Amino acid sequence: MAIINRIGEFHRDMTAWRRDFHTHPELGFEEHRTSAIVAEKLKTFGFEEVHTGIAKTGVVGVLRAGSGSRAIGLRADMDALPISEASGVEHASQTAGKMHACGHDGHTTMLLGAARYLAETRNFDGTVYVIFQPAEEMLGGGRLMLEEGLLERFPMSQVYGLHNWPKLPVGSFAVRSGPMMAAADRFTLTLRGQGGHGAMPDIARDPVVAAAQIVMALQTIVSRNVDPVQQAVVSVTQVHGGDAYNVIPQTAMIAGTCRSFAPAVRDLLERRITAIGHAIGEALQVEVDVAYERGYPPTVNSEAESALAADAAAEVVGEARVDRATPPVMGAEDFAYMLEQRPGSYIFMGGGRPEAPLHSPQYDFNDEALTVGASYWARLVERLLPAG
Ligand SMILES: [Zn+2]
Ligand SMILES: [Zn+2]
Repeated sequence: MAIINRIGEFHRDMTAWRRDFHTHPELGFEEHRTSAIVAEKLKTFGFEEVHTGIAKTGVVGVLRAGSGSRAIGLRADMDALPISEASGVEHASQTAGKMHACGHDGHTTMLLGAARYLAETRNFDGTVYVIFQPAEEMLGGGRLMLEEGLLERFPMSQVYGLHNWPKLPVGSFAVRSGPMMAAADRFTLTLRGQGGHGAMPDIARDPVVAAAQIVMALQTIVSRNVDPVQQAVVSVTQVHGGDAYNVIPQTAMIAGTCRSFAPAVRDLLERRITAIGHAIGEALQVEVDVAYERGYPPTVNSEAESALAADAAAEVVGEARVDRATPPVMGAEDFAYMLEQRPGSYIFMGGGRPEAPLHSPQYDFNDEALTVGASYWARLVERLLPAG
């Protein structure tokens, strides 16, 4: 592996920063301590400008070198999850019910490590924006940064993101051109019938039977309606209704998640869930309200930028350890909004801990990967903005 020597020298510091973030997790839009530390470090490293308070707790650092007018953005996320940590590590969360179970502590640290190196060496020509976004987990902190003028205030032509991937070994990367992660939507069906005696179904209108039929019928959307060469998921994850043995309830509720890549498939899922809900409701004399809420769009990597990202990764870990055509995953990512606005690429970096997956209470970011990720960021900048 070709870890940048100077970044190798930061390993102890980076490990200490990462563990400090891990011990003090903060949920989305509450990253006050984390963002204060980030801003303070960027100033200490010699960044020209450090902007805080973007999307509540977001931070953007500006670093310039040479006379070039090109500008790129590198993005890390800072938020933790509402999970009780069970990793057993010494630096475990000290806040009950909150933990860094997705490795955003590591992401923040790696971008800080790269920022320190880039500020020291300035071996590039142009402007680098380091973007520390709040609230990646479900709350759309990245989208809010865009709404607050991220790209107008910091006019970058490309934007890059990285996520640790525990299943892959440390010192490996995986990326692809095209959809990398899915669109994530949610749906809620509210069924209203006529409650009554469990022994007299003829004078009730039963929302439970209707709910059961709707759950099964929703499973035909992917199998019967979606083009078989496209990918989609419809998962019903909640069914609620009733609370007695001998009472037909008045209402029932069904909820779940949809994942897709293609906009046409996404539209189809919404249309079919709505139609199935209404049609079965009508057939079984139960009113059905369907609410379909669109969440993060698909994360779509552009082709040229993904090749450049893979080249930068290969410079660090060797070509043999870079998967340039990894299959997409059905998870979703807030970075999708930035990639809707600018070309760029979102890459997975090996975390070497398959036994403790993302969002599990056993998860802990692997500190061995810190210098790998920071070296990737640094090489990416040196490649994209080559010094004259
Ligand atoms: Zn996550
Ligand atoms: Zn994450």
